[in-house]
Amino acid sequence: MQYGSTMTSDPSTRDRRPDPSALRAALRVRPAAKVSLKHFDAGATHGWEKPVARDETERQLERLADLQDRLWAEAKRAVLVVLQGIDAAGKDGTIKKVMTAFNPQGSPVTSFKVPSVEELAHDYLWRVHKAVPRKGEVGIFNRSHYEDVLVVRVHELVPRRVWSGRYDQINDFERHLAANGTTVLKFFLAIDKDEQRARFQARYDDPTKRWKFAMGDLEERARWDAYQAAFQDALSRTSTDVAPWYLIPANRKWFRDLAVATILGETISDLDPRYPPVATDVPPDLVID
Ligand code: ADP
Repeated sequence: MQYGSTMTSDPSTRDRRPDPSALRAALRVRPAAKVSLKHFDAGATHGWEKPVARDETERQLERLADLQDRLWAEAKRAVLVVLQGIDAAGKDGTIKKVMTAFNPQGSPVTSFKVPSVEELAHDYLWRVHKAVPRKGEVGIFNRSHYEDVLVVRVHELVPRRVWSGRYDQINDFERHLAANGTTVLKFFLAIDKDEQRARFQARYDDPTKRWKFAMGDLEERARWDAYQAAFQDALSRTSTDVAPWYLIPANRKWFRDLAVATILGETISDLDPRYPPVATDVPPDLVID
């Protein structure tokens, strides 16, 4: 199926639609750019309105399903999607939405929690490298090795001289993955402080969601500025040509979903994954009885 040919969409909204492929360049963090989150508009929608964006997201998800099927069948390259963002930025929600496009067999999700004793006994990339996707897979990291320059820095779990050496190590690691057939792309979901407050409150108020709320969330929220500083440095120092960061305005969930689905689709499309050739002993006109 070719993108745009047979996909369903509401024709009445199609002519008012901005070009979705423009999002990739617009949201990409250029290598060595000095990112300032203070001046970043987390509510931006880049000309999109909700109904049109929702409709376009469905088209993008159909496209992703097709691309993933090809990538899986081809089984030669892997794609690694890294998701980071402050608490309540929407990492889980993004995964839930985007994963609807994927065959679970080819798209493992790995959530990185506080490291175990075994993990801490190794270097910080050990558990990460073990979890990278196999050829043919689109692997999603919910948190990642970036925690080792984020929470670890904010809580001073290791001295500055240790975490400050990690940006270059991470760039080297991602370059190694890229050189060995894994396309790496990273999404930072940016919400502002008031949006986090509203999401925490909604989580607390909803009896089906209160279990997700912990008083520790508020202690982390009190470190907002320290996290922003850590995020900015990570974005500024580790966006490379082979493993770019995309800075996603994520106050509006519908825009976040559109941006992530589109950028992921554009990236896999560039790989042009192909179905393998039919086995040579399979005739072209076989009728099976
Ligand atoms: P969620 O990702 O949904 O918030 P949890 O509530 O279990 O899941 O949070 C996982 C926690 O693990 C986060 O607080 C995160 O900062 C922490 N974490 C992840 N990686 C590391 C790490 N390398 N060192 C210390 N803490 C980490």
